[in-house]
Amino acid sequence: MIKEKIYLYNTLTRKKEEFKPSDKDGRVKIYSCGPTVYWYQHVGNMRAYTAWDILRRVLEYNGLGVELVMNYTDVGHLTSDADEGEDKMEKAVKREGRTAEEIAEHYIKDFELQEELLNIIPPTYKPRATENIKEIIEYIKVLEKKGFTYKTSDGIYFDTSKIDDYGKLANLKIEKIKAGNRVTMKEKKNPTDFALWKFSEREGIRQQEWESPWSVGFPGWHIECSVMGIKYLGEVIDIHTGGQDHIPVHHTNEIAQDEAYNGKKVVRVWMHNGFLRVGGEKVSKSKGGLKTIIEMKKEGYEPLGIRYYYLLTHYKKPMDYTKENLESGINAYKKLKNKVREISNGPEGGKRTAKREKVIEGWKKEFLKAINDDLNIPKAIGIMNKILKEEELNDSEKYELIKDYDKVLGLKLTEFDEVIIPEKIKKMAEQREEARKMKEWKKADEIREKIKEEGWNIEDSEEGTVIKRYNQ
Ligand code: AMP
Ligand code: ZN
Repeated sequence: MIKEKIYLYNTLTRKKEEFKPSDKDGRVKIYSCGPTVYWYQHVGNMRAYTAWDILRRVLEYNGLGVELVMNYTDVGHLTSDADEGEDKMEKAVKREGRTAEEIAEHYIKDFELQEELLNIIPPTYKPRATENIKEIIEYIKVLEKKGFTYKTSDGIYFDTSKIDDYGKLANLKIEKIKAGNRVTMKEKKNPTDFALWKFSEREGIRQQEWESPWSVGFPGWHIECSVMGIKYLGEVIDIHTGGQDHIPVHHTNEIAQDEAYNGKKVVRVWMHNGFLRVGGEKVSKSKGGLKTIIEMKKEGYEPLGIRYYYLLTHYKKPMDYTKENLESGINAYKKLKNKVREISNGPEGGKRTAKREKVIEGWKKEFLKAINDDLNIPKAIGIMNKILKEEELNDSEKYELIKDYDKVLGLKLTEFDEVIIPEKIKKMAEQREEARKMKEWKKADEIREKIKEEGWNIEDSEEGTVIKRYNQ
């Protein structure tokens, strides 16, 4: 196997760093912030999950094992990330007149189907916050014991002033935040303090509430990810991912909790994806006009073409969504796949000499260098398009390389639908057979020509007549 160093951009250090897994057996532990399941995930959200699917595939291509946790937030995410407003799940309960569990079930199912359509490999663990309430309470009790919490009339809060370098992930200017937030602080000691446990206003109003040592209530959103991360992956998490919107609040608070609880750093590399924007604006909270992959498929947009469209932009960069860009990406995907189909029946490359082997290894290495450079997939796609035109490679060598690259790209480039031969063509082929039996050679040839005009080819072999697509 070819070896090449892996470099990943770490938001925390603001640098591309060489990546090595903490585990000696080469298992990489990844925590990915998953969806809040009160509503549909749209084509913008799905860009994030596709980016992290690529991360996982790149690591696996490098021969590493991956253990991936992606949670479902099914309680505690308020309409404002900063602990204000209503719980999104409770809001959905009122909107849809269904139980919170039914709502979670519905949106999880929809999301997982979207993942499948985009050929995203499912995570190793998919914990839900509501399945981890006991662990969350235990965790908060430790923070309380260590002196990081305080109580207000509506909840248990984390005191961010107890953390020396609070805000380091986002480079937050704490003094500035303090000056700008005096009015909205309510009972909080610092504007950046956040809820670990919120009290139910009155018991029985909420659908989702639990007993706790403090009061009946529900967990805050940030604590859920810290708890599930440690529970499933342990005290060292190699990589934590999420959208760029999570840097200043959600991930900043996760770091504060992790370090208060463990007395040391938990996450080694923080990675964040850029947003899919519409008219220069980020669209995150609601669908904002953006559709789901399922809806888009119904409109004729090929999901793997959408995946290809995502991959044309580096994961960290914003993407401006327009119908034209999307369609041109999907068309490029279709062309690419047709090209691969054309070469898939190419002549065998003959016996592979050491010299040929070296040429192929060279192309693999170039691809590996691109993907290991902070997942430079646009460059990797450029390499793939280059080999398709490369004269030094024959078709079977090209095909072999593309099949190998596709382990990372996940575009199903070498999976073709079964060819369905139309009834009309089958009938024409039978007529030709009849003519041949009767030794009416001219008629047989004429039918063959007609079949060709329809885009099909007839090949006679010892086993009989085979119908193939013309040009295949
Ligand atoms: P949400 O359900 O709003 O919490 O979003 C789920 C995930 O999608 C989070 O990791 C967000 O950072 C990410 N995300 C939300 N909107 C977009 C967008 N327009 N483009 C890319 N990622 C997004
Ligand atoms: Zn999270």
